[in-house]
Amino acid sequence: MFSAVRGLLTNRGAQIRTGDLTDPNGARYQAAPRPDARSVFHTAMVASVPAQTADILADLDTLLEPSRFDDYGPNGLQVPGAAQTTTVATGVSASVELFERAAAEQAQLLIVHHGLFWGSSPGPIDAPLKRRLQILFDADIALAAYHLPLDAHLTHGNNALIAKALGATQLTPFAPHHGEPIGFIATLLGPGADTNDEGVLAQDLFTRVRELTARDPLVFDAGPATVRRLAIVSGGGSDYLADAIAQGADAFLTGEPTERVMATAREQGIHYIAAGHYATETFGVKALGEHVAERFGVRHVFLDVPNPI
Ligand SMILES: [Zn+2]
Repeated sequence: MFSAVRGLLTNRGAQIRTGDLTDPNGARYQAAPRPDARSVFHTAMVASVPAQTADILADLDTLLEPSRFDDYGPNGLQVPGAAQTTTVATGVSASVELFERAAAEQAQLLIVHHGLFWGSSPGPIDAPLKRRLQILFDADIALAAYHLPLDAHLTHGNNALIAKALGATQLTPFAPHHGEPIGFIATLLGPGADTNDEGVLAQDLFTRVRELTARDPLVFDAGPATVRRLAIVSGGGSDYLADAIAQGADAFLTGEPTERVMATAREQGIHYIAAGHYATETFGVKALGEHVAERFGVRHVFLDVPNPI
C-alpha cells in the first residue's frame, strides 16, 4: 500500500533538486528552490495615485472579518508605517529576509500570513526583534498580518484556493478552531456527469498537489483508490485528521506533518498528504495582494522566501 508513496518521495525528489532534508522519523521533505532562484511576482498595475494605507487595512478587515476568530496572534496592523501606499508587498512569514526584500521593492505596506507577534502582547523587545523592527522603521513599512482569517476565507483563503486549484467543488466548512471553521471538506468530481462517477484517482490527486505546490508532498496513501471527499487545512493542521476521518473524508491535506499521523492514517484508511506548511500558505496572501492591487490601483509584489517545511 505504501510502495507508491516511497516511489513518489524517492524518485522525484532528491535527484531533481538540491538540498533535500530527511527528518529523524524518515520523512523526506522536498527542499525549497535554490536561493538564487527566488522569484518575485509582480502585478501589471502601477499606481498613479497612492492609496491611504488605513483605507487598505480597513478594506482587508472588512473582507476577512478577523474579529470572528480567536487567533494565536493579532490580526491586522502589527507595525505602523507610511500613511500612503503605492506598492504593497506580500509574503508568508515575517523575517529579516522578507523585510529587507520588501524595503528593496520600496513597499510601504507588507502583508503576511505569519506576523511578528503571537499571544496577547509583544512583550519586551529583544535584539532579534529589534533588528526586524529596525528594517521596517528605517523603510517606513507598515506590517499587517492575517492568520486564521486567511486560512478560512471562502474566496481569498488558503484552503478554498487550494480546493479550487485541485479541481474540488462544493466546499463545506470544516476544522473548527474555538468554534470557527478554518478549513473545508470539498468534493472531487470525476470526468463523468453521473454523480456515481464522482471522484478522482488518489494518484491523480497526489500529482495535482505536487504540481500545485511545485514540491513533493509527504503522502501516506492508506485511503481508497478513488477520492471523493477531500479535507483541507493548510499549514499546521495535522490535529484535524481525526475530524476528517469522522466526517468521512477519503483524503486529508495539510501542510506540516506530525509523527503520529502515519499510524492513524493506516489504521483508519485515509490518505494523508502533507504538502508543506509554507507551500500551502502562499495562496491566500498572494490573493490578498492581488485584491488590494485591483481595488486600490497599487502595485503588488509577492516575495517568495521558500521554506522546505
Ligand atoms: Zn501557518
